[in-house]
Amino acid sequence: MAASAVQASDPAIKPICAKVLASERLSRADARALYHTRDIFTLGELANQARTSRHGRKAFYNINRHINYTNFCVLRCKFCSFYRPYPRRAERAADGYELALDEIVQTAADACKQGATEVHIVGGLHPKLPFSYYTDMCRAIKQSCPKLHIKAFTAIEIVHFTRISKPRLSIAEVLLALCEAGLDSLPGGGAEIFDDRVHDETFQSKVGEQHWFDVHRVAHELGIPSNATMLYGHIETADERITHLIKLREHQDDSLAQRKAAFQCCVPLAFIPEGSALAHLPGPTGIDDLRTLAVTRLMLDNFPHIKAFWPMLSPKLSQVALNWGIDDFDGTVVYYDITKREGRGTNRQELSVDQIRNLIREAGCIPVERDTLYREVRRDRGAEPCAASPAC
Ligand code: SF4
Repeated sequence: MAASAVQASDPAIKPICAKVLASERLSRADARALYHTRDIFTLGELANQARTSRHGRKAFYNINRHINYTNFCVLRCKFCSFYRPYPRRAERAADGYELALDEIVQTAADACKQGATEVHIVGGLHPKLPFSYYTDMCRAIKQSCPKLHIKAFTAIEIVHFTRISKPRLSIAEVLLALCEAGLDSLPGGGAEIFDDRVHDETFQSKVGEQHWFDVHRVAHELGIPSNATMLYGHIETADERITHLIKLREHQDDSLAQRKAAFQCCVPLAFIPEGSALAHLPGPTGIDDLRTLAVTRLMLDNFPHIKAFWPMLSPKLSQVALNWGIDDFDGTVVYYDITKREGRGTNRQELSVDQIRNLIREAGCIPVERDTLYREVRRDRGAEPCAASPAC
């Protein structure tokens, strides 16, 4: 739909329709108006316009495999239901685990055989594993599956590695060592909400926005692409979400202007209260999800892609979101241990390629398999899936 055809019933967002049509940058006041309008259908149409002007009716997905190597973590973020405390001597870990490297490599090799182009690897901040565990992991996966793209380790994990490395390494040195071992890109987790109040109340001991941006700035300077996230629907306000998005947009402006790489996509992550210290909160509603996805698309005018991560948003809402600014459905996932809503309490969370393509088609979009760097993967011509080339 052309933006000129959008008829806003809310006078507060009529001027925003014209700005979207003219591809003008939206202001904080615009974002506020969009967040508070009751004319949610116009909001959806505007986000759809912004999405369609970039990608037409294409909706991207990938064949990937998540690997969560440990749930032991030295921190206790209140929104997290994933971490388990590391057992003291003579104690047994109830449901805590750490995967052996052989097991991780076998999982990656199995995924590769099944057509995966990417492994997405994240975990808790393990108190005992040495930095060599992580470099050995990347090296062993690359030796076993040279074409598999390794997207691994959130900014908080990278900062953790600077602290456990001996001698202590800088962020740049950690990233270069991981890249030398086979790392290809960084996921966007750990951003949560860039706000001191929210940080102090929900994840106080975790590094804040400065460290998160430091890691992504250095990654972009080194030519390592990365993603960004926003965990919404807990204690933050709409204004705090808007500030978060503006900070991401400013960082992306700088990366695009003066660094070798940039953010590829933003993934708004819907908070899932179950099992966390914030289980008393209701979490976001469906309208809040759609509103947040749409505002994210409209505010992040310098991000090529906005992703719906279906294990946290649900496949059904992710499908609807394809007409609310979303162009990326993420992937087959297979296993996800960090939240378990879609796995009905288990970590088995998988959509087949046929299921994803059908959901995309039913939403009126064209399914396009991509690799991690958003290059189209053409399997129908018998070509081997593209392997992303290491950026460093
Ligand atoms: S969110 Fe990450 S750092 Fe925080 S407790 Fe969970 S696993 Fe640990």
